[in-house]
Amino acid sequence: MHCPFCRHADSRVVDSRTADDGSSIRRRRQCPNCQRRFTTIETASLSVVKRSGATEPFSRDKVVSGVRKACQGRPVSADDLALLAQRVEETLRGSGSAEIDAYEIGLAILGPLRELDEVAYLRFASVYQSFDSLDDFDAAITSLRAERAEREAGSGATPGESSESTSPGPT
Ligand SMILES: [Zn+2]
Repeated sequence: MHCPFCRHADSRVVDSRTADDGSSIRRRRQCPNCQRRFTTIETASLSVVKRSGATEPFSRDKVVSGVRKACQGRPVSADDLALLAQRVEETLRGSGSAEIDAYEIGLAILGPLRELDEVAYLRFASVYQSFDSLDDFDAAITSLRAERAEREAGSGATPGESSESTSPGPT
């Protein structure tokens, strides 16, 4: 491993420890030439199996470009997209497999995108899940509304109140 400071061709490992629940190893290295220290992170490579059967390395950039179109005109920044791609990668790595289907990437995008922007989520989901009728949109929107109501109830003044307590009439 080259020293990133002086480009010396060699470095010495002074410490190594696992990180991220064992999915990566951080190594502290020292350059024998300039004596400066730096850290490297080693992770297993993550391959994406495409529909054609070909594999390619997972790329956060591809996640970003795949989502960017759905975010057009929405208040979503480049930082938001970078963070989303990072979360997608963490989710996929968390699954513990070294090879993933391209389809699973789309699936891993849906959750964080829904939190980021509901309109962008609907656009992305409509393409990815091949919505072909208004009913599909309706179902997705209903589920978004239900989740939002749940969030608001959770942070509201009367948490845990169910509909039973609001209908006192005898049944
Ligand atoms: Zn050096």
